[in-house]
Amino acid sequence: MLNIIEKKVNKQSLTEDEIKFVLDNYLNGSIPDYQMSAFLMAILLNGMTDLETIYLTKWMINSGDTVDLSFLGKTIVDKHSTGGVGDKTTLVLAPLVASLGLPVAKMSGRGLGHTGGTIDKLESIEGFKVSISNEEFKKQMEEIGVCIASQTKNLVPADKKIYALRDVTGTTMSIPLIASSIMSKKIASGASIIVIDVKVGNGALMKDIEDARKLANLMIKIGKHYEKKVVCILTNMDEPLGYAIGNGLEVKESIDTLKNQGPKDLKRLVLSLASHMVSYGKNIPLETARKECLTSLENGKAYEKFEQLVKWQNGDLEKIKISDRIISVKSIKTGFIQKIDAYKLGNLAKKLGAGRSYEGEEIDYGVGFLLSKKVGDYVVSNEELLKVYMNEKDLSLKEILDCFTIDNTTLEDKPLILDVIE
Ligand code: URA
Repeated sequence: MLNIIEKKVNKQSLTEDEIKFVLDNYLNGSIPDYQMSAFLMAILLNGMTDLETIYLTKWMINSGDTVDLSFLGKTIVDKHSTGGVGDKTTLVLAPLVASLGLPVAKMSGRGLGHTGGTIDKLESIEGFKVSISNEEFKKQMEEIGVCIASQTKNLVPADKKIYALRDVTGTTMSIPLIASSIMSKKIASGASIIVIDVKVGNGALMKDIEDARKLANLMIKIGKHYEKKVVCILTNMDEPLGYAIGNGLEVKESIDTLKNQGPKDLKRLVLSLASHMVSYGKNIPLETARKECLTSLENGKAYEKFEQLVKWQNGDLEKIKISDRIISVKSIKTGFIQKIDAYKLGNLAKKLGAGRSYEGEEIDYGVGFLLSKKVGDYVVSNEELLKVYMNEKDLSLKEILDCFTIDNTTLEDKPLILDVIE
């Protein structure tokens, strides 16, 4: 292992055997965390060639089971996001796409760092079961065509172990590590069409568009190697998506969106991702797919599918955990909102209890923020900026107000969809 670390430190390329050696021996415990951390840091600093990243992805996939969805006899489409703040897209998109006859078997994760996770959000619905046996999963997919479950224990176990280490060693931002982490899970989950929301900006892993493009192109290349169609949609994550941040609050906003009454940015993003999935999944033009998606939001079919999904997974939509200790935070300035710092707000939501500070920590599903304003809006002094939903943990007013930049200049609308690469 020491030779392999030194090779990477000296910017040399690793062979397939060396990469396999690292993954096998890290997973079986022979390589300790400190050596793996050094190896990951060397990758973060010196990068990997595309071929090395393809080998890494291959042996991550081979570290566990793969899912075979061929029994459904249909094209399998999947979606992944590189992670953001207020990103509840999957909750809307999965039932929406399924309502149009395409199976969506989504394996999702919990929150990571300052970003939230779909599984935590769903658990804010009382009773919602996220661990599903293979038989239950198969039955649910056959009966209703949609399931959102937590990643089974043996799906890409190498990613699970490496991700947890990256999270605490400052190595999350490496392009080859992100690409192999995402693509190994998507390929192992059995989809043939993969739409990836690559978030760019202050609240995202990729802070600038050039890095986001590099990540997108690398994932597309890995996809090609496995004969998978990969579409990357680069989207702005400078401010939170929608108005709600925090598990129960985000479920509520997703329901509003499924009823076609949600925030404009969330609806726009869902429609963009979903129409690519539907277009490739059904082999129809993008514009036709978009119309089908919109109709499903308007005629209630998408919401009906969501209700079915929640019922099948034992959830009770009458009981969504949202705290009733609510504090209104008012602006101390008048002007246009220039910035709502997604990264800081995500971290504050975590501090309130919406996310974890260590593995396995109990979270508080009911806490979070509900923004009253978005970037570009005008606010007058003493007008509400946001509501804080809290329970046991407090925040200072200063740390909340620090998330907002307000002054007198008007600003141009920044597009939400920055690019589509395929
Ligand atoms: N999402 C993942 O699954 N892996 C990463 O490395 C980053 C985002």
